[in-house]
Amino acid sequence: MRCPVTNKSINIGVGMKYENLTRLWNVELSVPCPHCGHSHTVLVRDAYMDQTVEDFRDKTA
Ligand SMILES: [Zn+2]
Repeated sequence: MRCPVTNKSINIGVGMKYENLTRLWNVELSVPCPHCGHSHTVLVRDAYMDQTVEDFRDKTA
């Protein structure tokens, strides 16, 4: 996900099993932000999608 305040990337380490992921798909996470010091809420599915994209970028960069 991305910090809405600083616009920096936050790695929240969404490494959960697919089985858990589907169950938590619509659950909101509160993520403590290392950049601005606040907590940001994000849906698990959004966090997962973002993380997948970030990982893909890292591997292809
Ligand atoms: Zn932030």
